[in-house]
Amino acid sequence: MKPRPALIDIGINLAHNSFEPDRAEVIARAREAGIVGMIVTGSTLPDSARSLELCRRWPGLLRATAGVHPHHAAAFHETDCAALAELYADPMTVAAGECGLDYYRNYSPPADQRRAFALQLELAARNKLPIFLHQREAHADFMAMLREHPDLLARAVLHCFTGGVDELDDCLAAGLSIGVTGWICDERRGEALRTAAGRIPDDRLMLESDGPYLLPRTLQPKPAHRRNEPMYLPVILEAVASCRGQAVEQVAAQTTANARRFFGLTLAVAALDRN
Ligand SMILES: [Zn+2]
Repeated sequence: MKPRPALIDIGINLAHNSFEPDRAEVIARAREAGIVGMIVTGSTLPDSARSLELCRRWPGLLRATAGVHPHHAAAFHETDCAALAELYADPMTVAAGECGLDYYRNYSPPADQRRAFALQLELAARNKLPIFLHQREAHADFMAMLREHPDLLARAVLHCFTGGVDELDDCLAAGLSIGVTGWICDERRGEALRTAAGRIPDDRLMLESDGPYLLPRTLQPKPAHRRNEPMYLPVILEAVASCRGQAVEQVAAQTTANARRFFGLTLAVAALDRN
């Protein structure tokens, strides 16, 4: 059997309830699939704290982000910034976020989303952290708010990019890195992304499962449950490599190096490899 390329999953919602019954097995399967590191996505303050607890349980494998997703923006106010800054200060926190704007679902009113995003951009800039971003159907507002923090642009990754060429070119011109999920495996919805994926420079591309969401649609055989998990990252890798006309091994090595550099995982490398 060919050795599995070492991969880093930069977006896994491992604190999600659906992983409660078998989280250790999910992690074991990920390691078997070649995953050498995972960045656990924090999407609320309690969820970010829970993600950090998971990092302490698997310190050789996990790091976390700390932030408030736009869906939960209505509950995030200036008075919560001190609590968020405390989560930022945890040595296991490698990025601010997930934060951004989502006008597709509007679970929080847009004005609340902009307030929560502005607060988090400000706090991330002040703490000089990389930032893990979410944007859906809000490109213009999102870019305008982001450009108010030029220092953040080169250390920002737009996760689960689902847009087309125009949005991508705008993000790339601003200096953003791009996270690609199994969205690229969706034959209908992923078409624009498949066209755009070849334009992402080698050094600004990273891979993510976004589990338990976005099970790759090309997965064969399909699991009976619809839950996505990091062990399927190689399926995303293959789709990305094929869209870019590059070898799987090349994309694997490049995206893993990018994730290590972007999230500052250099100190963790020895630990990651030892575990
Ligand atoms: Zn997201």
